[in-house]
Amino acid sequence: MSVTDLTAAERERILAKAAHFSPPEYTLPDGRRDLVGLSREELVAEMAAFGEKPFRAKQLWHWIYHQGVRDFAAMSSIARPLQQKLAERFVIGRPEVATDQLSKDETRKFLFRFRDHEAVETVYIPDRQEDRGAVCLSSQVGCTLSCKFCHTGTQRLARNLSAAEIVGQFMAARDAYGEWPSPKGETPRLLSTIVLMGMGEPLYNYENVAKAMKIIMDNEGIALSRRRITLSTSGVVPMMDRAGAELGVNLAVSLHAVTDELRDEIVPLNRKYPIKEVIEACRRYPGASNARRITFEYIMLRGINDSEADARALVKLIAGLPAKVNLIPFNPWPGSAYQPSTPEALKKFAAIVMNAGYASPIRTPRGRDILAACGQLKSAVENGAAA
Ligand code: SAH
Ligand code: SF4
Repeated sequence: MSVTDLTAAERERILAKAAHFSPPEYTLPDGRRDLVGLSREELVAEMAAFGEKPFRAKQLWHWIYHQGVRDFAAMSSIARPLQQKLAERFVIGRPEVATDQLSKDETRKFLFRFRDHEAVETVYIPDRQEDRGAVCLSSQVGCTLSCKFCHTGTQRLARNLSAAEIVGQFMAARDAYGEWPSPKGETPRLLSTIVLMGMGEPLYNYENVAKAMKIIMDNEGIALSRRRITLSTSGVVPMMDRAGAELGVNLAVSLHAVTDELRDEIVPLNRKYPIKEVIEACRRYPGASNARRITFEYIMLRGINDSEADARALVKLIAGLPAKVNLIPFNPWPGSAYQPSTPEALKKFAAIVMNAGYASPIRTPRGRDILAACGQLKSAVENGAAA
């Protein structure tokens, strides 16, 4: 068996496991079906079964994803009797806003609840100077991976999110800011980038994440370019190749340690895909050029991974890769075992990485007062019941 066969087998295994945590089928109790989250092909098929031609699907796509309309009665290019027929059979859904919190620094955290009462958190982080900002989307309810510094990791995986629920987080956030219709081309957007850095490991829910991103990138709808989307992974090597080939979005890798010994402990997935394999997958990632650098995320834990020797080992590890290093100050959460690095340690570490030729921004924590910063998200109470 070649290495490629092994990777393919591993990919199959990951996808089979993901199916085990599949989201429920979304049909309402009254039998109506949600149109959000269907791929273009699925929407065409749905319309065909309904007795309508493909151009109907094209019209609906425009109303749903470009105009952001939720009511068939507002679809002025569709005749009234057909609007009524559509409304009897379909809905254009959104997750329910269970809570909506605003931080002192304008970061906004939503808890979105789905029809089976599972919930996830979504965060909007506005730029401080300009009218733009990042939306941090969740991909799973909980996470299987238990990284030691991460609050989400303490919540066991309940299930994967569907494509509708992933797209729905973005659409509901856009509703909250009234950003419809979708701005075209280079027109500024308030919700201008997406980071898949919320709850969950996106590459353990690859099919749904990929479908959602294809809907969001579609030019006749939301039309957000793949250059404005960043997928963050803790290093699911076999799926990194697939994401690169099929989606071509920006890649962020949660590295956090420079030795397997330490990474095994704080990012347990390292026992399966050690540092060397993760870095090799980064080297294979398509489009890795200076304009599209890979981001390495590195959480700064006091006395654990923040020495100058660690910084030097880090630049050696990523030598030759077009990359930047995001230094993330550790965000504490109730019961967490680590301390954030001192400002001096942070500065020294950043300087070493920078002098080696890599941008090394220290990420200012945002929304800490409402537990909306990196790694603070969690949607269940301690006993595991839905919050
Ligand atoms: N599962 C994916 C994406 C979600 S986590 C991943 O691990 O990459 C998003 C980022 O938040 C990761 O880089 C993660 O390591 C970081 N993070 C987790 N807990 C944190 C904490 N307590 N403080 C700061 N960053 C944290
Ligand atoms: Fe999961 Fe990412 Fe948190 Fe690790 S850091 S437990 S992979 S969400």
